[in-house]
Amino acid sequence: TASTFLIPMTPKRTQQWLQVVGHAGSFYVGDNGTLLKRFCEREQQCYLRLMEDSLRPFVPAYHGVVQRDEQDFNMMDNLLTNFRAPAIMDCKMGSRTYLEEELQMARDRPQPRTDMYEKMVAVDPEAPTAQERTQQAVVKTRYMQWRETLSSTTTLGFRIEGFRKANGECITNFKRTKSRDQVKEALSDFVESNTHIMWSYLTRLKQLRQVLEKSDFFRTHEVVGSSLLFVHDRTGKAGVWMIDFGKTLPVPAQRTLDHRTPWVEGNREDGYLWGLDNLIDILAKLLPL
Ligand code: ATP
Ligand code: MG
Ligand code: MG
Repeated sequence: TASTFLIPMTPKRTQQWLQVVGHAGSFYVGDNGTLLKRFCEREQQCYLRLMEDSLRPFVPAYHGVVQRDEQDFNMMDNLLTNFRAPAIMDCKMGSRTYLEEELQMARDRPQPRTDMYEKMVAVDPEAPTAQERTQQAVVKTRYMQWRETLSSTTTLGFRIEGFRKANGECITNFKRTKSRDQVKEALSDFVESNTHIMWSYLTRLKQLRQVLEKSDFFRTHEVVGSSLLFVHDRTGKAGVWMIDFGKTLPVPAQRTLDHRTPWVEGNREDGYLWGLDNLIDILAKLLPL
């Protein structure tokens, strides 16, 4: 299950790594500026193809599979290398965060989940239906769809999962951050009103958008649950990269996605570019004219 805690890792000489969100315990700091993430074959397939794609400069470099304590890991660049006491933000992109196949699977074999019921009640005691209340459980897709209507995922095509500021302050309570104004405020807090950093992010996101619009990988993949990782530090260095391809799937041969068309079940659209358009828009409005 996903956790939203910050897991500070012990700095290993000059190597440093901090996790903003995601599954705790899935990562190791590797040698020479690398990071090991628990092996996932889908993610490996994506990284292998991304290394040959025009998107390569916008993802961590991939270095293959390695073993630690008898487990497999995908080895990739640690994006925090070369930053000093970085501020980090994870933005989950797209207008939905579950795959069409997950929806189908949950429908075929609905598995009531008590843990998700509890998370739901913790945010909104009124949210469960009478039946869910009786069962004290919800099915996973119901939980995911409900969660997405609370955040900006369905209304803006992305949501802030969490961020860590340079001073170490961590904010991960964005489950109900939904409106443009709320998102704008959160972004402004993250960049601490530093216009230089805002410009750098904006420029990088516009470059990314240009590359995405032409990328073969992107055209042919349903990109779900993937994030943009924002990193900056007090020296003024800033970067954005795409990460987390555990739920990124190729579409059938001959089919392509435009990532802007609204999703209806069956079209596989993920709203990724629509979300990026909105993110760029909101960030641009933070800058003085
Ligand atoms: P979830 O699916 O719940 O989002 P996950 O286990 O798939 O989580 P990721 O989303 O890939 O994990 O990563 C979790 C966090 O770890 C990110 O928010 C980021 O802070 C950090 N992280 C991941 N990859 C890198 C990287 N290559 N370099 C630096 N930090 C990273
Ligand atoms: Mg993630
Ligand atoms: Mg993931």
